[in-house]
Parts: sequence; C-alpha cells; structure tokens
Amino acid sequence: MTLAAFALATGSGLMISSAPAQERGAAFKATRADARCSGKGVLGVSRIVEVDTTDGPRLGNLQYKEIDFLEPGEVVLTFDDGPGRQTTERVLEALATHCARATFFMVGRMAVANPDLVRDVAAQGHTIASHTWSHANLKALSTEKATREVELGLSAVSAALGAPVSPFFRFPYLNDPRRVMAHMEQRNLGMFSIDVDSYDYKSRSTSVMQRNILKGLEKNGKGILLFHDIQHSTANGLAELLDELHRRKFKIVHLVPKAAAKTLASYDEIAGKELARRQIATARQPLNDRAMVWPMATGGQTSASVSRPERQETLPWHEDAASPAKRKTSERARPTQSAEKERDRPPPSWKKVEPTWQEKMFQHYQ
Ligand SMILES: [Zn+2]
Repeated sequence: MTLAAFALATGSGLMISSAPAQERGAAFKATRADARCSGKGVLGVSRIVEVDTTDGPRLGNLQYKEIDFLEPGEVVLTFDDGPGRQTTERVLEALATHCARATFFMVGRMAVANPDLVRDVAAQGHTIASHTWSHANLKALSTEKATREVELGLSAVSAALGAPVSPFFRFPYLNDPRRVMAHMEQRNLGMFSIDVDSYDYKSRSTSVMQRNILKGLEKNGKGILLFHDIQHSTANGLAELLDELHRRKFKIVHLVPKAAAKTLASYDEIAGKELARRQIATARQPLNDRAMVWPMATGGQTSASVSRPERQETLPWHEDAASPAKRKTSERARPTQSAEKERDRPPPSWKKVEPTWQEKMFQHYQ
C-alpha cells in the first residue's frame, strides 16, 4: 500500500465525487429522509469519497498515519457492532433526519440474526461493512482462526444483506495483528481505524457521548468518528449530536467502495447455513430469537446482555467460528429506567469540557 495509490481525485485509489448523495443513489430506494432533505437545516452529505481497497489500504489516524483524506471540518460517521434491535432503528432515524450517510461495520452474527435490519441500513443508502464474525480479539487467535473470523464475518454480512457488501473492515477493539493485516492486503480489504471515539459503550449518558465527540473534534478538527449502533447512549443522543455538528458547520463525508468485496465460497456456505438456521429459529420463536445476547466465552452458563454499556466493548464475545452459537437466548435488551430518564433530560451544555479525552486512548484497546 503506497501513498501514491491514494492520490486524491486522480482516477486511482481514493476518488472524490462532489455529487450530492441523492444523485448517486439511484440504486437506493427513496426514504423518508429524502423528502426532508430538500429543506434547510440538515447536515446532508457534502462529499462522497470512493475508496479503492486494492492491496488493503489503512485509514484512520489513531493508528494509521499514511492517508489523510479529510479536509478540515469534515467527519465520517461510523457505527460498529450492530445491527441491534431497538437501537439501530433509532440511529437510522437520526441519520435520516439529517439526510446523513454513514458506514456500518457489522458483526456477522448480529447480521444473520437481524437480516431485515441489515437491509434497512443498506436501503437508506449507508455503506455496509464488516467487523468479524463474532467480535473476536484477533490478537488472541491463531492466524488461521483470525482469518476465519474475518472471512466468515464478511460472508455472513453479505448473506444477511443478500448482496455484496463493501470491502471495508474494522478490527474489533482496534486490535490489528500484523499477520492478519497481511491477509487483508492480500484480499484487498480496506482497514478502517478511527480519529475520534464517542466512548458510547462506557456510559448510558447521551451527554457524555456527545461531549466525547465534540471534545475530540475540537482537538482534531475533523476525522472518522466511532459510535456503536447497539448502544443506547448513541441511539438516544445521536440526533441531538448531529444537530450540534450542523450548528458547528461540520460536513459529512460518505465513504463508498470502488468495488464490492469478494467473499470466499467456503465461508459463504457456512454463512448461508447459519442464516437459514437463524431464520428457522426466528420463525419458530419470533420474539425470543431476536435477543441481542451472546453467551460468555468461559463457562457458558451466563449470558451478558449487550445493552450493558459499561461492559459492552470488553465482553468476551469470541467463540470458535467453526462451532457457532450454542447460545441460549434470553431477555430482549431493553432500555433501563435511567436510560429512559436520560432521554428526557435537557440538552447538555456544549461548553462543558471533558478533561480526559484521548488520555491514554489506546489503553482501552490493549
Ligand atoms: Zn466492535
């Protein structure tokens, strides 16, 4: 991967389009958002950046410094770990209100559990990307198992959508072992780090999530923003944050792939079986089977709800991809009373300073 491959607007590598999102989106069905986009006061999409993932480029300045494709004031919205019942729909609604486009790095298992949500996200013009099969920490796995996590995740998200997805990938916990990066380069999968973290998994508070982003942007002035569409702080607070980003004159950049990802047939077969298995289970138990719950890796006797934000990103989600899901479904994730209260709170004070932004940022991911 060379910088030369990323010359801006030169016809190869990273390419820029100045066309409004709606113009390029002929393949996307019209949404309610489009009707509202004609009005003033929404973020919209100021620029579409087409990314050529040949040879596995790396973007996101927290880890990768080689590509700086954003102008001052530009942000890319990214959402990891979904799709999830209840929360992803609210995220989509907030984005639609602002006619904004984002990239969703989906976990394979979540995608096959909620294929209708995957299709909803795509239908609204967002970019579908992958984030492994089971949100495994790839540093802790052999190269063979880590590769399987990557490939099965890609095949599962593609199977859930029923169409090819983007070749964009984000490492769980941003843990990017060199040996797995070599695989990504060989497979022409782009690796996306971040610039600004919302830390939405650490607190149910919408105002904390919002301040983390705004403080990060005060420091960076632009960047790839990280959210999790399964987190209530983001689901409840995104609309207000987008209002504030608009007020501060930030611009939305939408990342799209130059070409779709190519899945591997052997993993498509596994993903297809898992999708069919989930669909049969859903038909039998339409309510219970929608739970956003994975078993703990050790013991397996307890289930950890992904709605528990303080544990979210540190959950040992990993299971061997070859023996998927001896999961016991349990209760559906529901907002707690405090989350409900949070939604009713007055807007946060935007001037309030969060003193700990970026302090030892990597600690969380180590
Ligand atoms: Zn994640």
